[in-house]
Amino acid sequence: MSDGFIGYTPTDDSSSLTSCQVLTVLGSTGSVGTSTLDVVLRHPDNFKIFALTANTNVDILAQQCLTFKPIYAVMRNKSSAKELKAKLRAANSKTEVLMGHSALISVVEDSGVDTVMAAIVGAAGLLPTLAAIKANKKVLLANKEALVMAGGLFMRALHESRATLLPIDSEHNAIFQCLPIPANKRDTCSINACTKGVKKLLLTGSGGPFRQWPLAAINCATPDQACNHPNWSMGRKISVDSASLMNKGLEFIEARWLFDVKTRDIEVVIHPQSIIHSMVEYVDGSVLAQLGHPDMRTPIAHALAWPDRMDSGVASLDFMSLNRLTFEKPDVERFPALSLAISVASMPTSAATILNAANEVAVQAFLEGRISFGHIAQLLERAIAATDFFELESIEAVLEEDLRARELSVQIIKSFLK
Ligand code: NAD
Ligand code: MG
Repeated sequence: MSDGFIGYTPTDDSSSLTSCQVLTVLGSTGSVGTSTLDVVLRHPDNFKIFALTANTNVDILAQQCLTFKPIYAVMRNKSSAKELKAKLRAANSKTEVLMGHSALISVVEDSGVDTVMAAIVGAAGLLPTLAAIKANKKVLLANKEALVMAGGLFMRALHESRATLLPIDSEHNAIFQCLPIPANKRDTCSINACTKGVKKLLLTGSGGPFRQWPLAAINCATPDQACNHPNWSMGRKISVDSASLMNKGLEFIEARWLFDVKTRDIEVVIHPQSIIHSMVEYVDGSVLAQLGHPDMRTPIAHALAWPDRMDSGVASLDFMSLNRLTFEKPDVERFPALSLAISVASMPTSAATILNAANEVAVQAFLEGRISFGHIAQLLERAIAATDFFELESIEAVLEEDLRARELSVQIIKSFLK
């Protein structure tokens, strides 16, 4: 582990729960966004909403504006913004409606904002999340694709800033919870200072809805089957990723960057009950695990209150009613996307950018019924096989590579349909 991971520079020594945090929630209408607002609603004295943002879901954003009274609501395009404006005007809301990329960046960077929840799905979340880092905010990172597509540059921006980055992905949040909090919180802390003795990160995953399916059945699974996760309720893109185990692959790359570990020190463990959310093994043989119901409100509340704790609305675990907790090796024959992502984690950084972009194109095509489930992993393999990799030195280079991989993926899809 090296230093400079999650920077924490509190303005004073007071508990985060005795003061009021001002929040911008990127992707507030999604699964993580609505869970965030559910937690916020339980602590009206501790949080104020500065801005809520969404892609096109006007109805949910309008409802959220009436409940949380943000100063700004940002929609991605003009027609949705116009629709939202009309709805809010009719309800006498004072929330100002903005539109487009520059508005998204300005509600992140505003000096009135303390904390940014980065819960946009996919590559679209990269620039606003980076803007939050550069503006020295407390950044709660759900948007794993941002870190996968631009890991090195993202972490460099973090080290150069005074931002605090806290993981929301349940596995990474669990690992973070299993690492010690440094004694001296007045200075920027680094994981390095307190993680001597960490031997291995154990990244758990449920195995998804197809864990016990034969390969032939997996290959022709439908979008509804893929989105029917046994334990978690999530957005459709991450649900498909969970079914292909690409989600675990993305999380492997995410962990490599967040915790600055060698890929050989991360192990994926299938744990179908989703009660243990990940573990840290130390050199003395100790293994620390974080347990809880599979409910994103736990990692969200943890990060919002960190380094304190607050109620998340999640019920206590009842150990007497838990059945067995079981563990197995991932089956990379039936889930080839996982082994591909693990090998990409050790390649020059453009490989992960390509993998992420190809996966986004593949998942969208699958959800739209244009390709089969089996085509997703085939597309990823072909996109990776068709490309030379190199170290990406700027965000512009990342965006160029992302675009190139998307164009290549569209061509690969055309070849499937011939
Ligand atoms: P979701 O699809 O439910 O919500 C996505 C949100 O992003 C919505 O508010 C949508 O309006 C917004 N959005 C989508 N495209 C956009 C664009 N181009 N511009 C601006 N806004 C856009 O997704 P989710 O399940 O909430 O996941 C969000 C992120 O969190 C993903 O990166 C996912 O991998 C990660 N994550 C989710 C969970 C979960 O339980 N859902 C768990 C861990 C990590
Ligand atoms: Mg996860």
